[in-house]
Amino acid sequence: MAKRKIALFGGTFDPVHIGHTTIAADAARHIGAEKIIFIPAKRSPLKGFLPKANDKHRLKMIALAIAEQKTFEVSDCELKKPAPSYTLDTVRKFQAEYGDDTLIHWLIGADSIDDLTYWYQIIELIDTCILITMYRAGCEVPDFTKFEPIWGPQRTEKLQQNVIQTPLIDISSTEIRDRLASDRDVTDMLMPPVAEYIRKHGLYQSKSTADGE
Ligand code: ATP
Repeated sequence: MAKRKIALFGGTFDPVHIGHTTIAADAARHIGAEKIIFIPAKRSPLKGFLPKANDKHRLKMIALAIAEQKTFEVSDCELKKPAPSYTLDTVRKFQAEYGDDTLIHWLIGADSIDDLTYWYQIIELIDTCILITMYRAGCEVPDFTKFEPIWGPQRTEKLQQNVIQTPLIDISSTEIRDRLASDRDVTDMLMPPVAEYIRKHGLYQSKSTADGE
């Protein structure tokens, strides 16, 4: 019997933007995943700074962004753990919950490739789930051949086969935060309810201080 497929999409989502939702939907179609679960991280183990909006705001913005999409869900499982949380632990948690007849996919953007060697137990992670790499505007086409000497040909081949040519959407949360801090327009980058939430709560108004109560 064919296995069920789900896709997990981790990130800081500070804030979640149209790039995230568009590529996630496209990747899910390619994979044939029955659902995509957005998993906001308390903080990224590899980013040298904390998210600007607090956990509650980031979680709520994701909920607003995905409200119309029946196959999208959000999980606060990493927010409930002490920071930082590791992808491998999260993948194992979902695998245990869904059981062995479900294939767990983990989505990353092409900009994350060079960081992968620093990820916690990366070899274990490559073997445990299906790591899906999505194209990203401004990044090179994903190419894993340079990792062959460290991860071996089978893992490299597995990663390469799971590259998905998602649409190039030139949006980043950094750009959105910068624009909001200098009072510039972000209308085309955010789902309208997320833009409204940011406005209502005065998020990302300054570059330096952390937002949220
Ligand atoms: P920041 O600018 O704060 O680093 P970001 O826009 O990259 O944020 P994250 O929350 O860090 O957003 O991203 C979560 C995941 O989504 C990462 O794997 C990232 O590579 C991917 N991603 C984010 N935006 C895009 C995009 N426009 N196209 C493709 N992948 C993306």
